[in-house]
Amino acid sequence: MASTNPRNLRLAAGAALVVATVCGATTAIRLDAYNVPFSLAVACGLGAASTAFALLMRLVGRLGTTVYACPVDGCNFRARLTAASPADHRRLREAAAAHPAHHVPRS
Ligand SMILES: [Zn+2]
Repeated sequence: MASTNPRNLRLAAGAALVVATVCGATTAIRLDAYNVPFSLAVACGLGAASTAFALLMRLVGRLGTTVYACPVDGCNFRARLTAASPADHRRLREAAAAHPAHHVPRS
């Protein structure tokens, strides 16, 4: 489980912002070609940009997140860490392996 450098996460977030901005601008420009009113084209462009940014940030979040799960069958204990130190990773790995109460769902 490789942890991602926080600097790389910031770079990925910046790249996501650029891609989302281009996506929104492209949408607005394409709508302008169909004589859509400017305010409506801007609104659609902002909507497309915000949607693209939200999706890309979810992906960026997945890249930098490490999930530690309990090894006991049926236990649903999980701990997620994003951009944490190696000491935090070690602490949560140990906690996931030996937490006091296993959360086995009743069937
Ligand atoms: Zn457990």
